[in-house]
Amino acid sequence: MRCLACDAILTDYEATLRDATSGDYVNECIECIQGSTGNLALQERLDLKTVHDLGLGILDFDTD
Ligand SMILES: [Zn+2]
Repeated sequence: MRCLACDAILTDYEATLRDATSGDYVNECIECIQGSTGNLALQERLDLKTVHDLGLGILDFDTD
């Protein structure tokens, strides 16, 4: 499955993200979700969450 916005391949975690209000699958990668709306309520599968899916900046050790 690919992101509807940028065509990146979704992780299992991203592919199972749903809009908590409508219950519909979002079908977008984390970066696009965060870029398009800052306050979208999501239903997430924490058991599928990996290092790749952690929030922006957490793994960014580049201080330049
Ligand atoms: Zn995307």
